[in-house]
Amino acid sequence: MSDVPEVSRSEAAQPTLERWLTGPRFSALPSRTATHPPPLLSFEFFPPKTEALEQQLWACIHRLSPLRPRFVSVTYGAGGSTRQRTHATVARLVRETALVPAAHLTCVGATCEEVDEVARSYWEAGVRHIVALRGDPPPGESFQPHPHGYHFAADLVAGLRRVAPFEVSVAAYPEVHPQAQSRMADLDNLKRKLDAGANRAITNFFFDTSVFLRFLDLCLAAGIAAPIVPGIMPVTNLAGLRRMSALSGGSVPDWLGHLFDGLDDDPDTRRLVAAVVAAEQVRLLQANGVDEFHFYTLNRPELTYAIAHILGVRPGKVE
Ligand SMILES: Cc1cc2nc3c(=O)[nH]c(=O)nc-3n(C[C@H](O)[C@H](O)[C@H](O)COP(=O)(O)OP(=O)(O)OC[C@H]3O[C@@H](n4cnc5c(N)ncnc54)[C@H](O)[C@@H]3O)c2cc1C
Repeated sequence: MSDVPEVSRSEAAQPTLERWLTGPRFSALPSRTATHPPPLLSFEFFPPKTEALEQQLWACIHRLSPLRPRFVSVTYGAGGSTRQRTHATVARLVRETALVPAAHLTCVGATCEEVDEVARSYWEAGVRHIVALRGDPPPGESFQPHPHGYHFAADLVAGLRRVAPFEVSVAAYPEVHPQAQSRMADLDNLKRKLDAGANRAITNFFFDTSVFLRFLDLCLAAGIAAPIVPGIMPVTNLAGLRRMSALSGGSVPDWLGHLFDGLDDDPDTRRLVAAVVAAEQVRLLQANGVDEFHFYTLNRPELTYAIAHILGVRPGKVE
């Protein structure tokens, strides 16, 4: 959307037909047929705090399972605050479903031994995939590595490799991590994580497709060959998104704010607008050759299901 030239006031003052005739032309996005292979998907959930949220999560998992994601991941609360709940959710996924679970694991505020112990308990529970992260300090504090801990995610990836032959995903930031010294330093860090043994990177959310595509170009130029999977956030709550944006470095473009203007008390329209925004984003990415997507589901299946359908994914038999 950001690539679309804005219509200026003087252009808008032109006679209608002239304006239409002189305006930019955009070709249609390619239509996809049933013979085109569907993309690979992964879904991210957060561990529930209450019985009601637990039911919501499992209803979401059951709704999305027939889309046969490559893996589903469960987040780890800041500073390991959801350690038990993350473990319980991932262990239940192993026990009760045919899905491949990935456990998020952060290293902030813990010793290497404590983190290794959590990783070992995942391996013993049958979990073979970790999303390895540094994590954030408590709100208002600046990041200080634990003196006996893994300092950065790259160190954690190397540590996990010593624990067991996990599949490892790491985080990437198309708009640069807020604490990075520079864009190039952040890219070097991503390369270090992949060189340490991570199999893929999943990006922070972004809304301007060109931001992601330029990031891919930079990754390629930096010699990164591993998949960089776009993290797709279907947005329905702009205030919540702005809070996340301040923490994570993912920006909320003006055009997105404008699309949700005046809809604070209208959740139905917000959902429809959110579906259109996310559908446009993924279709544009798909037209540019992207064929793997990670969805931040926020434990709600509707938008993710609809967008996956638009991408050509159809439900199959759940084993
Ligand atoms: C897909 C995804 C999933 C996430 N899941 C969770 C989750 O479940 N739980 C959670 O708490 N958080 C999660 N986060 C947020 C993440 O923990 C924060 O963004 C955190 O601030 C950085 O984590 P990282 O793994 O990217 O850190 P790192 O890769 O270690 O990088 C952190 C910062 O340090 C810099 N850096 C790295 N190495 C060095 C060095 N040697 N010297 C100087 N600077 C260096 C980097 O450039 C970057 O600015 C997730 C983020 C993403 C994108």
